[in-house]
Amino acid sequence: VRPLYVEVALNLPVKTCFHYRVPESLAETLVVGGRVRVPLGRRTLAGFVVGFPERPDAGSPKDVLEAVDPEPLVGPEILRLTRWMAEYYRCSWGEALHAAVPAGLRRGKGRSKREPMVARLSMERDEEEGELSRIGRRSPRARRLVAVLREMGGEAELARLLKRSGAGRSTAKMLARRGVLRIERSTGAPGLPVQLEIPVRHRLNPEQTSALRPICDAIRAGAYRTVLLHGVTGSGKTEIYLVAVEEVLRLGKGAIFLVPEIALTPQMIEIFRNRFGRVAVLHSRMSEGERARQWKAVREGRLRVVLGPRSAIFAPMRPLGVIVVDEEHEGTFKQQTTPRYHARDVAVMRARLEGAVAVLGSATPSLESYRNALEGKYTRVYLSRRATRAALPKVEVVDLAEETAEQKRFSLISRRLESRMREALGRGEQVILFLNRRGFATFLTCRRCGFVLRCPRCDISLVYHKGEGLVFCHYCFYQAPAPEACPDCLWPRMAYMGYGTERVEEAVGKAFPEAVIARLDSDSIRRGEKPEAILGAFGAGKIHILLGTQMVAKGLDFSSVTVVGVIYADTALNLPDFRSAERTFQLLSQVAGRAGRGTRPGHTVIQTFNPRHYAVEAARTHDYFRFVREEMRARQALGYPPFGRLLRILFSGRDEAKVIRAAEAAAEQLRSGLGAAPSPGPRFEKGGAILGPAPAPLALLEGRYRWHIIVKGQGVGEIGKAADILESVPRPPAGVKRVPDIDPVSML
Ligand code: ADP
Ligand code: ZN
Repeated sequence: VRPLYVEVALNLPVKTCFHYRVPESLAETLVVGGRVRVPLGRRTLAGFVVGFPERPDAGSPKDVLEAVDPEPLVGPEILRLTRWMAEYYRCSWGEALHAAVPAGLRRGKGRSKREPMVARLSMERDEEEGELSRIGRRSPRARRLVAVLREMGGEAELARLLKRSGAGRSTAKMLARRGVLRIERSTGAPGLPVQLEIPVRHRLNPEQTSALRPICDAIRAGAYRTVLLHGVTGSGKTEIYLVAVEEVLRLGKGAIFLVPEIALTPQMIEIFRNRFGRVAVLHSRMSEGERARQWKAVREGRLRVVLGPRSAIFAPMRPLGVIVVDEEHEGTFKQQTTPRYHARDVAVMRARLEGAVAVLGSATPSLESYRNALEGKYTRVYLSRRATRAALPKVEVVDLAEETAEQKRFSLISRRLESRMREALGRGEQVILFLNRRGFATFLTCRRCGFVLRCPRCDISLVYHKGEGLVFCHYCFYQAPAPEACPDCLWPRMAYMGYGTERVEEAVGKAFPEAVIARLDSDSIRRGEKPEAILGAFGAGKIHILLGTQMVAKGLDFSSVTVVGVIYADTALNLPDFRSAERTFQLLSQVAGRAGRGTRPGHTVIQTFNPRHYAVEAARTHDYFRFVREEMRARQALGYPPFGRLLRILFSGRDEAKVIRAAEAAAEQLRSGLGAAPSPGPRFEKGGAILGPAPAPLALLEGRYRWHIIVKGQGVGEIGKAADILESVPRPPAGVKRVPDIDPVSML
């Protein structure tokens, strides 16, 4: 029968879907999962068709204007999953669908069947210079092309490169013949200028074999199961993932492999390519068109393995055999904008809906996953030893207070760390240094009046970047020249306080003048250095000391790294967030795990002002279980996850008084609706509590004042009820934004 009406999900913060009339001319073309253009008020919007109701919800609905997609953009599995997301995370179905489809695909990119041609630089710089100087007459154009390509990151779509450099195809071809460039059809992933260490296939050891069994059993049975794969760093979790994926492919199904964006290293991509041939890779540095093409290849069944960050969970893979979430404890799996979904939890739900297996892997599982395993919701398997039979690195903790007292000055590199580094470098081994702060000085202050230089739009201090001679806001990217004199009392000099990677680089350069040092953080990447080139050079032994932020902490596997130094372990510990101890423990374990992965033993030196904190102590002794015991006790006492659930409601706006009033009104309504005590005590009768309203720790960002309410509930039920109450009361006045966040990961 011909559909008379259609139900459309729009990307708007309005909970309901909208009904429209189907004009005669479109009766045959509309499909569920495809988009239509519809009028709403004075606007026209594109939305997803989610159903064909028999009668409209209101009197006389307007007409659909046109069909956008001739075939469904999303299949039934993604429709179901996004519908669950909308209910659980309190967004609209349209918002969830919007997040589930890559922007390029929504804009109709990636139509061409074939991958585009890409050009990559393929020579060392001195060789390249030699070639360029031999070219002669045509050299200026060739030089310009090479310079532009380097500016574009060393790799670019050929068409874009030619357009931007103004060079002709013949120049590019000539450079390719001379080996300066490689021109080939894109495979969708960054190229690898230098050979990386790619591990061979291993015969599984007994621990790995028994960990694999429940995973493969469930895969063969085609039954839902979530397995928590808990394995110390270097225990060979990757090999287990790979065998599980092979098993899935053998059964004619597909696999989705999620990693935190930062862990999507060339090494990881190469391991997958090596094992499975063509693999769909999705990451943020790819062009929209490229991502759209990969997506299509998955939907058409041409690619059966997807590797990507958070949003790859929506890959149109059918039938789905396994979803792997590597480093499942990572906070970056949670999206910080609407819809505020947690990709790990969406993965578990998707596996459940599609009868697939979810494998959550980590050396330091989140407390949530660990508790789910204890309660039998997940199957837990454990790898207690490194696969290479290498011992876990010896971890030494340096008390920075003691060190400063003994040396009578503060130094970035303690004597212990320096001597470990010298030993390693002397033996021709490599060093990784970690500090989770970019820039040179983390704040500028006046020694006379105590003034601290802050971002005018955010209530946080500005960070001095010596390379640029500028101060930056790490939140909103505000920048200004570093002031010479105090802007407040005009004292002629500012003091440069706190330490970032740039300053460490300088200090290390002075202490080890003969060593080659490279810095890997988002600043060095912004300046055009390619992480894969830096990592490639490090893997080839051309760099002795690699220094950086998160990027050097995650997933790197280099066998000749024997010393890892944590410059300052306390950055995460000092954050006003109930997960600060957990983050610190995870980060320290992760970084420490980069040392001694080969045959030579590793040393890790952790520098801290909190040497006796249990997170530091547990990282020192590689004792996850000790950490979990202490942390669980603290969480239980306060009713924090995993013992309760949280709803955080953030209010923000330019007029602080208005923000406060809106937050107070909401808190009042929540208290009366939930029957909570009027005074903000730690618990309400049934084991929950409403905390606040209070200023958020980041109380002013981009000119908006921020206040929040935190609802603690015993379970999803209470949180859901609080969210219901919030939806039933009037929206806050214009100028105040109210954002509910279910299972928040950041409390800042
Ligand atoms: P994880 O992800 O658990 O930190 P990896 O999967 O990176 O650990 O493995 C660590 C190292 O152990 C890698 O170099 C890998 O090649 C090696 N490896 C894995 N399985 C085995 C095995 N069964 N025998 C020997 N070496 C192995
Ligand atoms: Zn700012």
